[in-house]
Amino acid sequence: MKLKSSHNPCALLEVHSLPFSSFGFIFVVPRISMKKSKISPWISGTLIAGAFGLLWLLERRRPLRRDVEPKLQRNARNLAVASIAAATLQLIERPIAQPLSALVERRRWGLVKRLGLSKWLEATLAIVLMDYTLYVWHVLTHRVPFLWRFHMAHHVDLDLDVSTALRFHCGELALSTGWRAAQILLIGVSPDALSIWQTLTLLSVIFHHSNVDLSFAVERRLNRVVVTPRMHGIHHSIVREQTNSNWSSGLTIWDWLHGTLRLNVPQEAIIIGLPAYRDPKDLGLFDVLALPFREQRSTWPSRSIGCQPVHPAQLQAGSL
Ligand SMILES: [Zn+2]
Repeated sequence: MKLKSSHNPCALLEVHSLPFSSFGFIFVVPRISMKKSKISPWISGTLIAGAFGLLWLLERRRPLRRDVEPKLQRNARNLAVASIAAATLQLIERPIAQPLSALVERRRWGLVKRLGLSKWLEATLAIVLMDYTLYVWHVLTHRVPFLWRFHMAHHVDLDLDVSTALRFHCGELALSTGWRAAQILLIGVSPDALSIWQTLTLLSVIFHHSNVDLSFAVERRLNRVVVTPRMHGIHHSIVREQTNSNWSSGLTIWDWLHGTLRLNVPQEAIIIGLPAYRDPKDLGLFDVLALPFREQRSTWPSRSIGCQPVHPAQLQAGSL
């Protein structure tokens, strides 16, 4: 797609996309070539593919949690879900988000454009606010029953690894397009800021979904700033109070500010998934895609582990 204008630095704007997808937020990695582009599509694509490959290998050398399902079978299913999601983004989000950010930049719309900041400060603030409003979107996908129908396709995964980072229902990504447009418009996100945020967020999402056993010391230092694998593992726990924590996707500060940060759960005490969906036979590719449109099981049955404090020994014995 090319937009031409003779009056601004975005005189030549080309937008293409690489088919990465994840999490209600974009995951189209954009190829933007314009006169003031700060990030090359090749750099972002290489970083993301490199991070994915490296973490996939590290998961084999230093696994954090034991797998419940066969790895290759699960990864293949997750990548199939991700491919459908990526195609959906190409068709729905891409034609809206990038042109809208170019328009916002040309017209100087949005909050950050009104503050009289330098270009870099403007972009930095826009990226931080995108990260915060993604936290809000994540909370909504859990709290609003209609959105949860779609987001639970991500949470029913019985294991957590880099492939889960890309496993989002195409319906969730389609629904998130409206949120994305509002973010861009209200914050005033330029194409460059959008591109950088997309790349950083996808790197972060791949990292914190990974099943890599970092040392406690490294995790402790990192999770003061960004979301880490142990921290996000708690969000994927079948224990309700744990799922309802650690909503951040990039910076940890949002959970800290909202009092939803939870770090004190031993990883070996965590079972990944949702209590109502524990049978792998119910979680095939078609089942995951059909999940939002079927009668919902009570995600947190009243007598389930999700509502009661449970001793880790009980969890490991599988005595739900
Ligand atoms: Zn979630």
